Amino acid sequence: MTTAGRSGSSGASQPGPFAGSPPGRPGGDLVLRGGRPVDARGRRPGTPDIAIRAGRIAAIGPDLEVAGGVVVDVAGRWIVPGLMNAHAHLCLDGGPDPEATLRGENRTETVIRSAARLAAAVRAGVTTIRDVGGPDGIDIELARLVEAGEIPGPRVIPSGRVVTMTGGHGWWIGLQADGPDAVRRAARENLRAGARSIKLMATGGMMTGGRQAGQPQLTVPELSAAVEEAHKRGVPVAAHAESRIGVLNALHAGVDSVEHGHGGDQEAIDLLLERGAALVPTILSDRRIIDHGVAAGIPEFVVEQCHALHESLVVFLEAAIAAGVRIAAGNDGGAPLVSIGEMVGELELYVEHGMSAQAALASATTVTAELFGLDDVGLVELGHAADLLIVDDDPLASVAALRNPWVVLRDGRPVDRLPAPILATPDGPAR
Ligand SMILES: [Zn+2]
Repeated sequence: MTTAGRSGSSGASQPGPFAGSPPGRPGGDLVLRGGRPVDARGRRPGTPDIAIRAGRIAAIGPDLEVAGGVVVDVAGRWIVPGLMNAHAHLCLDGGPDPEATLRGENRTETVIRSAARLAAAVRAGVTTIRDVGGPDGIDIELARLVEAGEIPGPRVIPSGRVVTMTGGHGWWIGLQADGPDAVRRAARENLRAGARSIKLMATGGMMTGGRQAGQPQLTVPELSAAVEEAHKRGVPVAAHAESRIGVLNALHAGVDSVEHGHGGDQEAIDLLLERGAALVPTILSDRRIIDHGVAAGIPEFVVEQCHALHESLVVFLEAAIAAGVRIAAGNDGGAPLVSIGEMVGELELYVEHGMSAQAALASATTVTAELFGLDDVGLVELGHAADLLIVDDDPLASVAALRNPWVVLRDGRPVDRLPAPILATPDGPAR
C-alpha cells in the first residue's frame, strides 16, 4: 500500500515559520557532531556525524562539514528517529472525562486546544501522529496547517470522521452509515475531504455509555466496503475492536490495523500473521483507567467497562508479541489521563508484556511508518526526513531513555532553541 506521503500541498506559497528548511535557504543546514545513531535496526557502529540539509538526512559519516551550517556537539548522546503514535484523538484533552469536555466546547475552543496539544506532542518527541477520529474533519485541517508550516506539530495522518453504524461508537462525532453502500459513501466522503486513513467501528467502545463495549457493530460486508474504497486510494484502514468477534470481523474484512484488540484469541493471531495486519494495542489507556478510576474523575461506566475487558487485552497482547504479530504503537492519546505525546509509557508496557526494547522502538517507528505508507520516516537513514530525537541514554538499554528528549528535530528544525554546545554557526566558529 502506498499513500501520498509528503504531498507538497502548499504549492507555490511561502512556507510558514515552522516549516522544514526549504532548499538553499541559508542557515537551514545542520550537522550533528559525534552522536550515536540507533534505530529499529539496532545501533550503528561508531559515532558518525549526521548532516541535515533541506529537512532531510543528507550525509552520515566522519568529519562532515556543511558550508554555512550550524554544528552541534552531540558526543555521548544518542540519535533516534522521532516517535510515532498510530492512535490519537487530537480533539480530546486527556482529562478524566474527555468526552464531556469535548461536548462542552465550542468548535473554536476545540481547534485551538487541539493545535496546542500538537505543539506539546512534538516537543515530547512524537513527530508523526495518526488521528483516528474527531469532529468535522478538524484533524484534516490541522494536518494541512502543520504541513504548510503555519503551526508546530508532528506530521498528522488524519482519518477525518469515524465511520460508525447509526448509534454506534462515536456516532456523535462520526459519519453514521448503515449497509455496505452507505459505509462505502462515508469512506468516500472522508477521502474527498482529505483523509489519509479511514477509521471504522467494528464494536462498541468503553467511552460511549450504555455498556456496549465489545458488542459487534459494523458488519463484515459493511467493513469490507470501506476497506475496498480506502485501498483503491492507497489509504490504510483502522478498525476499533474490543471483543473477539469484533477483531475477527475486522480482520476478515481486510483492515490494516486492529485498534485495541480486547478478546483477541489464537484465531485472531493467525489472521493477523496471515494478512500482515498490525495490532495497535493502546494499552496505556486501559492501565490509566484501572490505576486511577473514579477517584480521578473518570466516569463510572468507563471504569466498569474497562475492568471487565482490560485483562483480555493483556492476554492478547502477550500472545501477539510472542507470536511475532506486527505491533504498531498507539496510546489512545486524548482518552482519560493519556496525552497524545505520551508514547514512552505505552512502549514501557509493551516491554513489560514481553517485547524487547528494540522491538518497542520499531513499533513506534518502522512499523507505524509502514502502516501509514510512508517510506521516508522512521529510520536514521540517508534521504529520510530529519525527524530525530537526541537523547542522553541508549534507548535499546531502556525505552525510558526516550522520555524528555534533549532536542527534538522535526524536518530538520529544532522544535525548541538548540541548547549549547553549538560548535559553529553560519557566521563561523562559535565563541
Ligand atoms: Zn481511540
